[in-house]
Amino acid sequence: MSVGGFGSGGGEVASDRADTFSYTPARRLRPNAKVLPEHARGHNRALVLQTLFASGAMSRADIARATGLTRVSISDLVASLIADNLIVEIGLRETSRPGKPATLIDINRDEFQIVGLDLSDTELFRGAVLTLDGDIVTLREVPLDGSTGEQAIDKAVALAAGLLEEATVEVLGIGVGSPGVVDMTGTVRSAPNLGWTDVDLQGALEQVAQVPVLVANDANAAVLAEYSFGGADGDLMLVSVGNGVGAGLLVGGHPLFGSRFAAGEIGHVVVGTDGGPLCACGKRGCLEAWLAVPHLRELLDAVDAAGLPAEEVVLRQDEILRAAGERLGISLAAIVGALNLSEIVVSGPEELLGGVLLAAAIDTVRERTMTEFHGGVQIRMSEQGSDIVLRGTAVMVLSGLLGVS
Ligand SMILES: [Zn+2]
Repeated sequence: MSVGGFGSGGGEVASDRADTFSYTPARRLRPNAKVLPEHARGHNRALVLQTLFASGAMSRADIARATGLTRVSISDLVASLIADNLIVEIGLRETSRPGKPATLIDINRDEFQIVGLDLSDTELFRGAVLTLDGDIVTLREVPLDGSTGEQAIDKAVALAAGLLEEATVEVLGIGVGSPGVVDMTGTVRSAPNLGWTDVDLQGALEQVAQVPVLVANDANAAVLAEYSFGGADGDLMLVSVGNGVGAGLLVGGHPLFGSRFAAGEIGHVVVGTDGGPLCACGKRGCLEAWLAVPHLRELLDAVDAAGLPAEEVVLRQDEILRAAGERLGISLAAIVGALNLSEIVVSGPEELLGGVLLAAAIDTVRERTMTEFHGGVQIRMSEQGSDIVLRGTAVMVLSGLLGVS
């Protein structure tokens, strides 16, 4: 299943990618709506690419079987994709059977790279040249040194420009995971930490790039990494816990953006009716006020510094983590109920979030949802590590330009 909503959904992108690309939300009232004849070819091209992306090298006959398209159609599509340099014949299948061995074809993984930027850290911008499989070839970090506004934009643009030069093969596109609320045109509507309001980040990057640029919220990028590289299902929520708390959502394999592009912004939703820690936004008891990493570390450090016996330290620290996990679970339960998610993945420092806190969140979701419908929801830590946003930007580009994820 491919992720819809990022870009053109794999239309005729190869011949003139830069011109045909658009980053617009797909209107998909019926996910399985019939494909119109004029769109069928682009759809089928994406289907072939998606099949190869997910399964690796195959013969034409394998692809025909996997896609349900005829051998004739596949031969034709493969020929046009080879002409566009997007797929390549990689040799003959080793076989002990008599007869001519099949020719294997694959996505031209060595001929393209992707440039990704992760702007979500408060201290530095990270950028990478990535393979089509989301592996990092070159990683660069630029300290922010307190930069905001124009200065921060310039740093992001310079980082991208440098990485474009470091790429060793053609760059398919640039993907960016930005903090804050990002609309479909790649404009950052609001990212308070960077002092950005209505910043046309996509436009700024396009001035230095001859390739398409896609900008999304960092958690919306991260959820794609989990989907494509973490083996997650299409009804997925990725909860990112760091200095703030945000989430990216896929429903039926489609990213959710929301009416004002702020779907998944759960950090400043108050959890419970009993107050709670004061939040930077002025409210009390926001999920972020309970869960943000600096806040939790501060509480745990205070217990450490209190000179208590070792067992008492563990008990009190577990209590802090359990309380935070419970609030996370309360927040998640309603979302699980509303969307009937199959999986929730938490991304952030494993040593802080992965033990008592996650267990408490899981228990709370179980207690507060209907076992019959929601008992199967998987709640786990991400295994994508600190590169999750960068890897997600690669999927944004793949999905937007080739229709694969
Ligand atoms: Zn708040």
